[in-house]
Amino acid sequence: MNNEKYILIDKLAETNELSREEWMILLDGAGEDEELLKYAASKARAVADQVYGKEVFIRGIVEFSNICNKNCYYCGLRAGNSKLTRYRLTEEDILACCEDGYKYGFRTFVLQSGEDPYYTDDVICDLVRRLKKDYPECAVTLSIGEKSYEQYKAYREAGADRYLLRHETANEEHYGKLHPENMSWSNRMRCLKDLKSLGYQTGCGVMIGSPEQTVECLVDDMMFMQEFKPEMIGLGPFLPHSDTPFRDKDKGSYEMTLFLISLCRLMLPNALIPATTALGTIRPNGREQGILAGANVIMPNLSPLTVRDKYMLYDNKICTGDTSNECRGCIERRMESIGYKVAITRGDYKMCNGVRPHCT
Ligand code: SAH
Ligand code: SF4
Repeated sequence: MNNEKYILIDKLAETNELSREEWMILLDGAGEDEELLKYAASKARAVADQVYGKEVFIRGIVEFSNICNKNCYYCGLRAGNSKLTRYRLTEEDILACCEDGYKYGFRTFVLQSGEDPYYTDDVICDLVRRLKKDYPECAVTLSIGEKSYEQYKAYREAGADRYLLRHETANEEHYGKLHPENMSWSNRMRCLKDLKSLGYQTGCGVMIGSPEQTVECLVDDMMFMQEFKPEMIGLGPFLPHSDTPFRDKDKGSYEMTLFLISLCRLMLPNALIPATTALGTIRPNGREQGILAGANVIMPNLSPLTVRDKYMLYDNKICTGDTSNECRGCIERRMESIGYKVAITRGDYKMCNGVRPHCT
């Protein structure tokens, strides 16, 4: 048993923060220590139960376009992937997906896409306004990439509540190994700061085990999130896609992904943390294990069946053959099997009550 690591987990649970040196000790070689992972998971789950109870929030995600003008090396939607059949949903298609979603109990709609200039700011704002008008009690989350402050401001004024933009890596040098030269780490970080300053519940996150990710990179990620205090944190294993430059790279570690979920929960007790689709892809019961490790959100797909298999960020993505209704039922059963219940609610970030150290 590696005592030092256990002591650091206890310290994290008590104070919600660690120093750079402590993160280094905790993360280095942690993935192989099964007992340690279990220890972190049980502590993290207890914190999640304390903050959010036995409820899991669901978000209906509409993947409305797989057209992207960016070329991230890891992603199947990258502009350079000429093998992919591209699609765009119309505004009416998107609204119809949300209408279905509402019937199935979703009270948050997540609109996600590649960076597709076809959807102008006017289109996005109109869509957000219509959704907020038709479903005033629902939250709208956007995940449409890097934009200017003014653009984010316009979406916010149209009514968007939340925004997901994974930082991918808090290490600038590492960022340069995952993206082509015309993409910049500082712009990604600028976007996140703008989003937060505009009052969005803001989500950042990383792929665990992305090519050339080192323990130092993960330490940088934890240090960044400790300071930034995102309301949402998306963590999933990196999974290779066969039509990208990273086709032959190793996938990320399932165990390490669960461990980082637990550590994020202990660091930011109130965070909204999804058990991601990538986690369910790497392991059949990965999402259940994600919840048991401290996650509290699941994001089933609301996209039309006809386009599901075309939004392929990585190979073998799950749930491409199921209708929205089937996905909804499946999630309900999966959560019940581990003693949790799907909540029919917006599922907002719970503001700190001032009791926890990180609230001060
Ligand atoms: N275009 C938007 C949203 C779509 S991509 C954006 O980039 O922000 C959503 C997320 O999918 C990315 O942030 C990335 O972390 C994840 N992703 C992309 N390719 C992946 C892969 N091969 N394995 C695991 N996750 C991947
Ligand atoms: Fe485009 Fe997002 Fe994929 Fe990058 S991660 S290629 S921005 S869809």
